Amino acid sequence: MRKIDQIYLDGQFVTPHGTELFPLYNPSTEERIGEVRLADETDARAAVAAAKRAFVSFSKTTKQERIAILNRLSASFTARLDDLKAAMVEEYGAVRGIVDGLLPLAPGMFDAAAKLVESYEFTKTRGTTTVVMEPLGVAAVITPWNLNIVFVAQKVANAIAAGTTVVVKPSELSAIQTQIMTEAFDAADVPAGVVNIVTGRGDVVGNVLTSHPDVAKVSFIGSTAVGQQIMRNAADTFKRLTLELGGKGPTILLDDADLSSAVPAALASGFLNNGQTCFAGTRILAPQSRLDEVHEAIESAMSAFKVGDPQDPTTGVGPVVSQQQFDRVQSYIRLGQEEGARLLSGGEGRPEGLDKGWFVKPTIFTGVTNQMRIAREEIFGPVLVVIPFEDDDEAISIANDTPYGLQAHVFSGDPERAQRVARQVEAGTVLINRIFSDPEAPFGGTKQSGIGREHSVYGLEANLEPRAITS
Ligand code: NAD
Repeated sequence: MRKIDQIYLDGQFVTPHGTELFPLYNPSTEERIGEVRLADETDARAAVAAAKRAFVSFSKTTKQERIAILNRLSASFTARLDDLKAAMVEEYGAVRGIVDGLLPLAPGMFDAAAKLVESYEFTKTRGTTTVVMEPLGVAAVITPWNLNIVFVAQKVANAIAAGTTVVVKPSELSAIQTQIMTEAFDAADVPAGVVNIVTGRGDVVGNVLTSHPDVAKVSFIGSTAVGQQIMRNAADTFKRLTLELGGKGPTILLDDADLSSAVPAALASGFLNNGQTCFAGTRILAPQSRLDEVHEAIESAMSAFKVGDPQDPTTGVGPVVSQQQFDRVQSYIRLGQEEGARLLSGGEGRPEGLDKGWFVKPTIFTGVTNQMRIAREEIFGPVLVVIPFEDDDEAISIANDTPYGLQAHVFSGDPERAQRVARQVEAGTVLINRIFSDPEAPFGGTKQSGIGREHSVYGLEANLEPRAITS
């Protein structure tokens, strides 16, 4: 049993004022593997005060000083990568392919930010004006459980690059991963108070951070419902916001797509990270003229998505994160059947041979209309829908008929046609014949998928505000 009973304040591991103990589970076995002592409102306020004190000198650091910190962070995250990977498998149930492929992005965030600081002009001239890009002030970073380490690294890297100090509130469900990550921050000798980490409940610690007058910016990744709550909280003090929220991404298979590569890619996107990915393509839009072929291609591609022990390198889909998430996903599988959709694969209950662990059968519904709730609501589990369309215009109109707009995918054999369709899809990112975005490109959502962009200069400038000095 792991016991996590300290938070990270002002460069020190300290016992929180909060006393609530929160249990931690291994989602593959349902065993209790630890507990975390949660921070409370007093701890959240102490973290903001530490970040505010540190901001006075940190905001004046030179490019070289920030680059040196970012380089040290990259090295210390790299040194702990194996521990971080092990924790992500144990506490979250991520499969080996995900941890090996995605976790190295965390140290990479610090490398990218260091490179950006080197070339970025913090002072520019526009007409007769000197424009100074000033760090915003204390930023609150609030993250979900599905890729906690990479998200925290991304947000903190941009904040440090900008000269901003942060209070991080990671998900309660990621406490073991957070503990190792915090040790990596501590080992990098970041000036005291620049990074503070308080694991606590969203409606307690999160609530203080998003309403505190000394917090200038909230950078949030999580559900659309919580994003709305944060916007309301932040309104009183006009906090700057970056909100990366939910999605219900379309994967459009145009009728000239090579289904032998497009369908496996569509499923890999939909089932990515055990189906718990905001940018997953969870609505597969298939041409009516080739619907039978799409069904056949899905059936033959399903063998790659073996469910089971995430430690096993041949596993494609691990468990979902919690009992609550398992119940929620099961309820959507029931709902799909009640709504009249037909199961092409999967269904309710655990996969054969797995009677413990929050494992869900990778499920695909066909005969789905875009008005069904399984096509409109974010399920956040390995459950996909196939929706037929007649022509490109109808595909675009179905793709856009959603409150979300995070990431979309277009598969086609004709680059010009794919571009034409991509330009009409309402989403922050549209990928053509691929499922992973370009780290140099802006990332974020339109509509109810969020506000603002991360990555490269977009992520850096989200932590800066121009000051115009005209003489
Ligand atoms: P969530 O919204 O329930 O929680 C996210 C974080 O917000 C957690 O740390 C939680 O404790 C905190 N929180 C909860 N209530 C709060 C409140 N009232 N005030 C402040 N903070 C509060 O999301 P989750 O279930 O942890 O994660 C899954 C969701 O995250 C999905 O909707 C997914 O699409 C979204 N997500 C989006 C992106 C993106 O980049 N767009 C990336 C990953 C996940």
